[in-house]
Amino acid sequence: KLNNELQELRGNIRVFCRLRPHLEKEQENLSNISIEKFNDESGTQSIVIKRDAKSHKFTFDRVFGVHESNSNVFDEIGQLIQSSLDGYNVCIFAFGQTGSGKTYTMLNPKDGIIPTTLSHIFLWVDKLKGIGWSYEISGQFVEIYNENIKDLLKEHDAESDEVCDSNIKHEIRHDVEARTTLITNVTTCKFKNREMVNGILTRALRMRSTAATQANLRSSRSHSVFIIKLRGHNTTSGEQSAGILNLVDLAGSERINASQPQVDRLRETQNINKSLSCLGDVIHALGAPDAAKRHIPFRNSKLTYLLQYSLMGDSKTLMFVNVSPCLKSTAETLNSLRFAAKVN
Ligand code: ADP
Ligand code: MG
Repeated sequence: KLNNELQELRGNIRVFCRLRPHLEKEQENLSNISIEKFNDESGTQSIVIKRDAKSHKFTFDRVFGVHESNSNVFDEIGQLIQSSLDGYNVCIFAFGQTGSGKTYTMLNPKDGIIPTTLSHIFLWVDKLKGIGWSYEISGQFVEIYNENIKDLLKEHDAESDEVCDSNIKHEIRHDVEARTTLITNVTTCKFKNREMVNGILTRALRMRSTAATQANLRSSRSHSVFIIKLRGHNTTSGEQSAGILNLVDLAGSERINASQPQVDRLRETQNINKSLSCLGDVIHALGAPDAAKRHIPFRNSKLTYLLQYSLMGDSKTLMFVNVSPCLKSTAETLNSLRFAAKVN
């Protein structure tokens, strides 16, 4: 039985790589990157980066090339997302350096994972109604910046940056017995229908980008976590289910830029590095054959502490490692791929 459980645990962590296309405005050289897909029974796919006559090959569960769109991506993860309606906890992360395509993958308004998920959930829930299930769906959207939590769904005066400077403290509390997590003082929105969700998402995205004067800078220096809670109840059989879907656009993984040695940046970078490496350690430990016996360092960062019960047990985790095709990004690309290969 234990063996089965462990087997399942390992099977529950997947890593997908995504190479974004070269943008029109990028008049620079492209890195020598190729993608190999194997049709053997393992079905794995690899990305190969050639640099200085050396070839670096990384193998993942799936590699999306430049011609594969967000909707191609969604086609392959829809089932995983649906499993949160069956009561599974699911985490999907986008990891990579700034400019590699994380936000495009997660939040692109037209077809990103978060908007597409939100519009599909109501279709799926409608179908499940036919077999007696009714769902209560609610959501939270938070940002973790410098190990502090900000509420991205808080109602606020659109004219001011009040939320950014707000003194409201958000703490993460665990109920160990119930295996649930609570963030204090955070806004929870009930999602009643798709139109309502669109409004909430628009508000959150506006909030995310106006939360600081250097909007892009800040959004690339923070993790944003969209949490969707799905409570189901079957009126015929009396069965219940509770699943949580966590969709995470991680902070840029690039190492500190020596040309910007301000104290703030330094602290920020240390916090980012610490929380990303902690996330890597946690996922790696959860995927190890002896995971059940290991100490898993969830407490070492706000992000892993927040997601603890969505990462452990029979939870399902998917990490995208996003990769830029630009030559100048090659060193960071190799770092990202090494990180991702380690958690795989
Ligand atoms: P990150 O969030 O990792 O910093 P972005 O998602 O902002 O990166 O992507 C950087 C740029 O590349 C943006 O202009 C984005 O629209 C574009 N981009 C990223 N991925 C794709 C893709 N798969 N297809 C087309 N454009 C993309
Ligand atoms: Mg981004």
